[in-house]
Amino acid sequence: MPIHLHADPRYDAIVVGARAAGAATAHLLARSGLRVLLVDRGRYGTDTLSTHALMRGGVLQLSRWGLLEKIIAAGTPPVRRTTFRYADAIVPITIKPSHGVDALYAPRRTVLDPVLVDAAIAAGADVRFGIAVTDVDRDRQGAVTGVAGRTRDGRGFRARARIVVGADGIRSTIAERVGAPFQRVGTSAAAITYGYWSGLETDGYEWNFRPGAASGVVPTNDGQACVYASALPHRIGRGGLAPLTQIIAESSPGLAGRLAAAVPPRALRTFTGRPGHIRRSWGRGWALVGDAGYFKDPLSAHGLTDALRDAELLARAIIAVVIDGADERDALASYQSTRDALSTALFDVIDVIAGHRWTDEEIPHLLLQLNAAMADEVEALAALSPLPSPSGQRRSSRSSPQTQLIHPRPVPCG
Ligand SMILES: Cc1cc2nc3c(=O)[nH]c(=O)nc-3n(C[C@H](O)[C@H](O)[C@H](O)COP(=O)(O)OP(=O)(O)OC[C@H]3O[C@@H](n4cnc5c(N)ncnc54)[C@H](O)[C@@H]3O)c2cc1C
Repeated sequence: MPIHLHADPRYDAIVVGARAAGAATAHLLARSGLRVLLVDRGRYGTDTLSTHALMRGGVLQLSRWGLLEKIIAAGTPPVRRTTFRYADAIVPITIKPSHGVDALYAPRRTVLDPVLVDAAIAAGADVRFGIAVTDVDRDRQGAVTGVAGRTRDGRGFRARARIVVGADGIRSTIAERVGAPFQRVGTSAAAITYGYWSGLETDGYEWNFRPGAASGVVPTNDGQACVYASALPHRIGRGGLAPLTQIIAESSPGLAGRLAAAVPPRALRTFTGRPGHIRRSWGRGWALVGDAGYFKDPLSAHGLTDALRDAELLARAIIAVVIDGADERDALASYQSTRDALSTALFDVIDVIAGHRWTDEEIPHLLLQLNAAMADEVEALAALSPLPSPSGQRRSSRSSPQTQLIHPRPVPCG
């Protein structure tokens, strides 16, 4: 028996993908009173293939949304120093308080993603896990009007919305089904292997760069530190302790010594590399956010920060359309142009860094370019006026079956 959610009236937005980009977008839309369906084919609270260092822009967003305190309450340690090592230089930088951020954080995805999902639920979004979206529905003019898919137990699923948001990651089904063209494709793809050490002596984020070998440390929950090594794919191979140890020895002998005195993980995880992309992020009835529309090499440690940034930019555009009656094309085109303006410099410089096409003399300049791109992003985020505070008025003023379908916790299907 197929499941039809909200056949009439339809949702204001269906968001496909319930992690950094999707759950944040759903949260912001729902708290502005929009009727939102958030679906994910995975399970609530699970880990995913990703390290998780947040930069200032990401922390700023969580703080403004009132969610940073939940990340801190989960025992995520503050990061007050970041240290770059390249050639013979060691450059420690103290995180200065600015824009209300006095420390960085690197919550595990098992912490960050549920905080965002819980916020979406608390704001009134209808959240369903275990639903894989396989296609979009369209009207006669070709505008997207909803999604179709299946539940984990094999039942068909269909829901309608004014706007369908693809927040479904690098291999986005929504991007593929709407035919979102690539505007840019990167020229390089580094691989990364990483794991969690206990008892590692560390003092904040560490980023090490030597030609052909990059590595780093990201302190996180449960007294652990995420340690990674990045290189061209042929060096990482299938990943694991052997290539990681070799690459760390080359990029930071000091870290190699500290690792030897710490407790290593039982297993490492490996990303075999994929070139970055920037896709067109909107069309009639659809939009993309997060990696679905804009992915860059993990060496940037910036995908999450940008996912949270673009969640807010897109949510503002959709709210303008649904609540203020703005023209959909104007609002979504403006979302894309802001996203692109804030993304292109970082995309270009990380493509060079990830390709390991640099020397010891060149890497400090590339890192300065990366830093400048990040600073521009923080300024742009800080300049945003606060989103309207949650009121729920609009939602409660409309008769909607949604109230019957809101779940206090995510509902696993199947
Ligand atoms: C190895 C590695 C290390 C990284 N390290 C960092 C870092 O340190 N800092 C940082 O900021 N970024 C990092 N990133 C990038 C970061 O992981 C991504 O930018 C971020 O996960 C993007 O979030 P997202 O919500 O767009 O997509 P995702 O986190 O990929 O979530 C997409 C969701 O969509 C769901 N989904 C997919 N298809 C469907 C479908 N058809 N139907 C229903 N649901 C679907 C999936 O189940 C998933 O839950 C790293 C990435 C990698 C690969």
